Amino acid sequence: MRFKSALLITLLLFIITAIFADEKLEDNKNTQPIPPQELEIFRKAFPHSTFTATYSEKLEDWLITVSCPTTPVSAANPATSSKRREITFCWCKGRLIPETELKRKSHYLPVLEEYPFGGELQSPSTYTQAQIEKYRQAGLASARKNEPFASQFLSDFMYYGSSRKSVEQHLARIKFLGHKVTVNEWIVDPLARVEKRILEEQKTSTVIDTFLKGIDHMDGYNWREIRDVERKSLHGTAIAIDFIPIKMNKYIYWRWTKDIRGDKWMLTPLKSRWMPPYEIINIFEEEGFIWGGKWLIWDNMHFEYRPELIEFYKQTHTEKQ
Ligand SMILES: [Zn+2]
Repeated sequence: MRFKSALLITLLLFIITAIFADEKLEDNKNTQPIPPQELEIFRKAFPHSTFTATYSEKLEDWLITVSCPTTPVSAANPATSSKRREITFCWCKGRLIPETELKRKSHYLPVLEEYPFGGELQSPSTYTQAQIEKYRQAGLASARKNEPFASQFLSDFMYYGSSRKSVEQHLARIKFLGHKVTVNEWIVDPLARVEKRILEEQKTSTVIDTFLKGIDHMDGYNWREIRDVERKSLHGTAIAIDFIPIKMNKYIYWRWTKDIRGDKWMLTPLKSRWMPPYEIINIFEEEGFIWGGKWLIWDNMHFEYRPELIEFYKQTHTEKQ
């Protein structure tokens, strides 16, 4: 008898828990949807900007209002004293596009793309057939018209990159590692941090010293007219720089390599490619830049300021551990 009533109570408890759990589920359905978690990545990457999410019943999507200082924040110009500017994007699954672009949202991919922060390149001699195919496809896609690409509206807003006229009002002519280069005023500070660390390392590293002495010049800002829906090089936004070596006797860019070696361009051994030492690449990455040598269609001379991609990598990879 005792056993029977214990069983009955357990059963009853089980049913009650199940009912409450169900009710909880119902509750969740009725509450506001949860704002996109990725906003935390943007907030970390751009600490002086704010990203505010408001749900739009009409669009059934989040509207993201981005507010950032009008001029770069520095010790002389703290965020608190700076005027601010604002824009509102549709979240659109991470694309961050203006409402007017919703009709052609399929042209855009999310802002946050995979970038393999840290570590070294895999030797092409160990590529699997699937990897070779991935490189081949990336090469073919780059030549196709209307291929979707990562949305650039956020960077256009942040760095005034939407037109030649506006970006040219925000350029700075600086000296970087002994070379004159024109860049966006928003990356002057990040580049100064990179330079300081590289110069410090140069004192004790012959690898870095030899690399720096082999640089002929640097290319930064370069506006190129493009069609309406086309990926713009971030040289147009002036947040990218290229190291141009004195001797161009090694493969440096996938396209030029393909012109010479044909369809096996991706299998070019790393030692036959010109590339900066990892010490340099690591410093750039730690200061918020990505290196073009890690792209499928590699561009080994190229660095660009993408703190959101570095932060994206860090957050997605620490969660998995
Ligand atoms: Zn470049």
